[in-house]
Amino acid sequence: MTSVTVRLSDVRRRIEAAARGCGRTTDSVRLVAVCKTHPVEAIREAAAAGQRDFGENYVQDALPKIEALADLDLVWHFIGRIQSNKTRAVTEHFDWVHTVDRARIAERLDARRPADRGPLNVCIQVRSTATDGHGGVDPDDLDDLARRVADMPRLALRGLMCLPPQASDVDRQRAHFRELRRHFERLKADGLPLDTLSMGMTGDLEAAIAEGATQVRIGTAIFGPRRPRT
Ligand SMILES: *Cc1c(COP(=O)(O)O)cnc(C)c1O
Repeated sequence: MTSVTVRLSDVRRRIEAAARGCGRTTDSVRLVAVCKTHPVEAIREAAAAGQRDFGENYVQDALPKIEALADLDLVWHFIGRIQSNKTRAVTEHFDWVHTVDRARIAERLDARRPADRGPLNVCIQVRSTATDGHGGVDPDDLDDLARRVADMPRLALRGLMCLPPQASDVDRQRAHFRELRRHFERLKADGLPLDTLSMGMTGDLEAAIAEGATQVRIGTAIFGPRRPRT
């Protein structure tokens, strides 16, 4: 079996090649290693190879890992659907949330953010016009939500995120990512200080980087196939 260390350096090479291919620098793309379903040992191996940012989808699986790895200086990203009864755990234990898609959830994250931590970094998840059911705010409601989140004192609105349907064809992949980038640029032109486009996974990171991704969320290519949740 290939080790996490080897796969991680393969992913870094993919990111580097994709960035270079469109005239961007490698350090303009942050790699979030998505470790959902994978054990603490695999995360330690990635951390030993220099990886700092990790993403989790399930609060109840993530909390014991975050605690077990508290000796390392890691940055934790919540990338799953947020249930309102989990907002306290999310805002207490994570550094980033990529999946805010309604004001009520944002209000709860804001109200419960511990005073001894800096503002919670937030991306708004936007539904692609081509899909329903993947979560995300309707593009028609995005500007209003972005403004409201930007005004919340304990949240730092950083940017936008999308989870488009899988497509094997690069043009289709790019079309989804381009749509998100257009929203991003419009909001910036309207004065919101955004710096983050969270888009791209194992199967489409090259297309995402070509369309301006500043964070890619990569699971399978680093940790191998997902394991059954226990
Ligand atoms: C699981 C997951 C990823 C990583 O997907 P891979 O295809 O394994 O790289 C990225 N983003 C989100 C929101 C996920 O749920």
